[in-house]
Amino acid sequence: MHDEIFLPKRKFFPRFEDLMGIFAIFLLLTIAVAIPTVVVVVLGHLDEIKNQEFKIRTLDLGWVFLSSYLIPMLLTIYLVIRHYKISPRFEFRPKYAGLLPYALVAWILLLFVEMGISYFLPDSQSKFQSMTRLILQHPVLMFFLISIAAPILEEMLFRGIILKYLLKKYRPLTAIILSAFIFGLFHMNIWQFVGAGLLGLLLGYMYWRSGTLFYSVLLHFLNNSLAFFTVWHFKTMEPEAMALHGSGQALLLILVASLGAFLAFYGMERYMKSRYHRVIYLASGNPHKLDEIRTLLPENIRLESMHALAPDIRLQETGKDLSANSLQKAMQLARRYAVDVLADDTGLEVDALNGAPGVHSARFAGADATDEQNRRKLLEALQGQDNRQARFRTVLTLNLGHRWFRFDGSVPGEILQAPRGEGGFGYDPLFRPENHEQSFATMSADEKNRISHRGQAVQKLVAFLKKIPPAGILD
Ligand code: IMP
Repeated sequence: MHDEIFLPKRKFFPRFEDLMGIFAIFLLLTIAVAIPTVVVVVLGHLDEIKNQEFKIRTLDLGWVFLSSYLIPMLLTIYLVIRHYKISPRFEFRPKYAGLLPYALVAWILLLFVEMGISYFLPDSQSKFQSMTRLILQHPVLMFFLISIAAPILEEMLFRGIILKYLLKKYRPLTAIILSAFIFGLFHMNIWQFVGAGLLGLLLGYMYWRSGTLFYSVLLHFLNNSLAFFTVWHFKTMEPEAMALHGSGQALLLILVASLGAFLAFYGMERYMKSRYHRVIYLASGNPHKLDEIRTLLPENIRLESMHALAPDIRLQETGKDLSANSLQKAMQLARRYAVDVLADDTGLEVDALNGAPGVHSARFAGADATDEQNRRKLLEALQGQDNRQARFRTVLTLNLGHRWFRFDGSVPGEILQAPRGEGGFGYDPLFRPENHEQSFATMSADEKNRISHRGQAVQKLVAFLKKIPPAGILD
């Protein structure tokens, strides 16, 4: 019915060393920006230094913080996209709004889990003193940094890039955990590692399920604003009021809150099961293929042309056979855009020509040959031939998340002496399928789809898709 294709994971961005590299680049850029900024600050106070009156001002520290976060973050995002030649296309529009109430509950419960875990960590007061001072003295600047800039930029990097591409390599659960881990690591201290790691699980889940950064930015904003206003109100990062008494209490809190958070996740899964629809991109610019496949797909699947990703994409087709070409086309889209993909490679195999044009069907009459030129060339090649037996073969490659599948279809028939019919495309006017009087080009779209090579492959694909909806976290 279908084959599953297993691709080496290393072929896809990001490998573990890429993630460590991104971390290292961010760190180096932070240092590279912070040093000159500090130098500029110091130079601005030379007189005071000479008179030994210099004391670092919190506002100056604020600018150091702001620039040595914003610049490295923006540069890291830019460099990752350029270096790995990826096009993440950040989506910010809201979808699946019903996830939000569950997510809010999960978020609050995860805050309690974090509180429980923090009980076992060393005291963090001294660590965050300068941050606390900054928030109290320069709330507007710090609110912009903590609640606006950080949620947007971090969601772009950790969810919109890192998780999006990890989901092309690993099952969702693994990808989400890995992205949350990296997100925690970037905070470079154990307290925020715990908080960001837990939050990262929820943000990652929201992103995976909804396919938009809207909810993760929103939750990240709420989370950071809560931290901001906690400091603002209690004048400390760890308000006394929330302190726990005893490790038993802390453990109980972790347990109960984790259980609650798990139930909230379960709620989100249930909500999504009935609503989830997939968007799959066709690795082809051929509008006829798009139409033929679209009409056969179930309602919860939307097939888009690859030109919706970028109008000028051109895919390479250098494979030895249809399967290799089909996979090659799908991989180019999946690797670059990290979207779900369907690729179709079709060939016409003529017995008297030893299977030609086969994999070269599109280029039979030359590199940029038109359908008309290809048909003429085929008729010339078969001039005077009695054996006009041929078959159309289609190999579809489907990529959903990190999994790859292959479906095929073929139809025997014969090559007519002259084109017949106005419909269809490509070699349709010259091909008469076995047991039929007409060429494909004389049939209605439905009739062709019922018996054609592509129609058969798509029917197998549809049967498969009906068995697996919707994507699960353990897929
Ligand atoms: P490809 O699969 O896009 O590489 O197409 C190979 C060649 O076969 C192109 O010249 C297409 O026009 C032609 N072709 C693909 N599918 C069909 C079909 O269903 N009917 C007729 N010609 C087709």
